[in-house]
Amino acid sequence: MAITKRRTAELAKQVFEYAPAPESTDHIKIEPHYDLFIGGRMVAAHSKKRFPTINPATEEKLSEVVEADEIDVDKAVKAAGKAFDSWSRLAPSRRARYLFRISRLLQERARELAVVETMDGGKPIKESRDVDIPLSAAHFFYYAGWADKLEWAFPNRKPRPLGVAGQVIPWNFPLLMLAWKIAPALAAGNTVVLKPAETTPLSAMLFADICQQAELPPGVVNIVTGAGKTGSMVISHPGVKKVAFTGSTEVGKLIQRSLAGSGKRLTLELGGKAANIVFEDAPLDAAIEGIVNGIYFNQGHVCCAGSRLLVQESIAEPLLEKLKLRLGTLRLGDPLDKNTDIGAINSKAQLEKIEGMVESGVEEGAELFQPECKLPERGFWFPPTLFTNVSQSYRIAREEIFGPVLSVLTFRTPAEAVEKANNTPYGLSAGVWTDKGSRILWMAERMRAGVVWANTFNRFDPSSPFGGYKESGFGREGGLHGLLPYVELN
Ligand code: NAP
Ligand code: MG
Repeated sequence: MAITKRRTAELAKQVFEYAPAPESTDHIKIEPHYDLFIGGRMVAAHSKKRFPTINPATEEKLSEVVEADEIDVDKAVKAAGKAFDSWSRLAPSRRARYLFRISRLLQERARELAVVETMDGGKPIKESRDVDIPLSAAHFFYYAGWADKLEWAFPNRKPRPLGVAGQVIPWNFPLLMLAWKIAPALAAGNTVVLKPAETTPLSAMLFADICQQAELPPGVVNIVTGAGKTGSMVISHPGVKKVAFTGSTEVGKLIQRSLAGSGKRLTLELGGKAANIVFEDAPLDAAIEGIVNGIYFNQGHVCCAGSRLLVQESIAEPLLEKLKLRLGTLRLGDPLDKNTDIGAINSKAQLEKIEGMVESGVEEGAELFQPECKLPERGFWFPPTLFTNVSQSYRIAREEIFGPVLSVLTFRTPAEAVEKANNTPYGLSAGVWTDKGSRILWMAERMRAGVVWANTFNRFDPSSPFGGYKESGFGREGGLHGLLPYVELN
């Protein structure tokens, strides 16, 4: 039976009827504008240019931040360089104490951070509250534990910090990406200059406040806001010894080219086009939840999103029928509502990119499915979408969409699944759904992907390394591996 839009809407209505449950915003304070966090204080910028950051769910302006210029970036790198002398020589147990304090403050201020993260970026509050903020705190807690155990982390070697790290992060997990960057750098004795993304600078500004609250020595963390140009000033500054970048493959390649021969250490965490592979013996209902979590979590703005579903041909029909019904039950709307599953698209530019990619899918001949779904009038929105009848050559099967759009392909044999899953320039993650442990191991061995999830998807833990193969980048974040890019070993 073909599943119609009306039928999914009817079913959704029968199953769940929710009253609005918005999270309150009266406990947070967003300043009308922010300066730069340099040398332990918020300081007036040299640059007179400012730009607004908006709430993508309402298009309302939340605040204004500085577009830092060369002089501002220089000041930040010099502050970090000055702080490095004492921070790198501080007793490691004291460095740990600061990191534990930051972790505790992130927990104490979790509600405020979650609301700000949701307002600035559009992600559902249940995700910022249950995933982004707790994981950020856990990351600082984890690396605090390593700070005074570096000689155990690298036995028989002498780990030494590198100096000032220049770090540039994207907009999909603003605070979490900040934590992934700053926590290991500081634990190993480095100091940092970080540039948050243009559309989501506010949680980094709150983090600046947390650094002050934790009485972190001045200059150990510096935060400069701005656009791509400011990012490129940070990474190219001669005072920066180590560059850590998370963002698109396109910009990652540019950075690698520009740093060639500079002697700077570099790690790149870039894009992805992960395969989520479902075998005929998989627990179907669990797989449906994994597929939904894999691609619709954070509106699909996830580098490791399971954006290509590979389903074994023998179960394709029942699986798609269940999946379409499930899509009809996803609630799209106010990201601050605690029952919202799908929030706002992060920016107008990203929405246009998603729309363009979806159009290309239709033009190339794929079959589009979207459940009946009312989009709010203001803000940037895109309904949960899936494509069937997708050929591997279509753009929607090859390129990263970074939106709530799933491309479904089928396979017959495990070997064909491996072939299709690896048929991509990316290699960040993969998912395998099957009842057989031996098949999980067989598949994991053959996936050219940094992370392979088995009978689950999008699971994170600070102790577990994350990173890519091929055009998804190099270097690992998280775990013991995540310390390595921040130390020199003698
Ligand atoms: P992006 O355009 O590459 O931007 C990332 C960051 O770099 C932003 O702060 C951006 O500033 C800045 N930037 C832009 N041009 C630059 C340049 N020439 N030099 C230095 N910095 C520059 O990526 P995005 O659209 O923000 O993020 C989405 C991408 O990130 C996706 O491809 C996703 O897969 C990837 N991602 C990867 C991981 C991972 O761990 N592998 C995690 C999350 C996201 P503006 O904000 O002003 O543009
Ligand atoms: Mg914003």
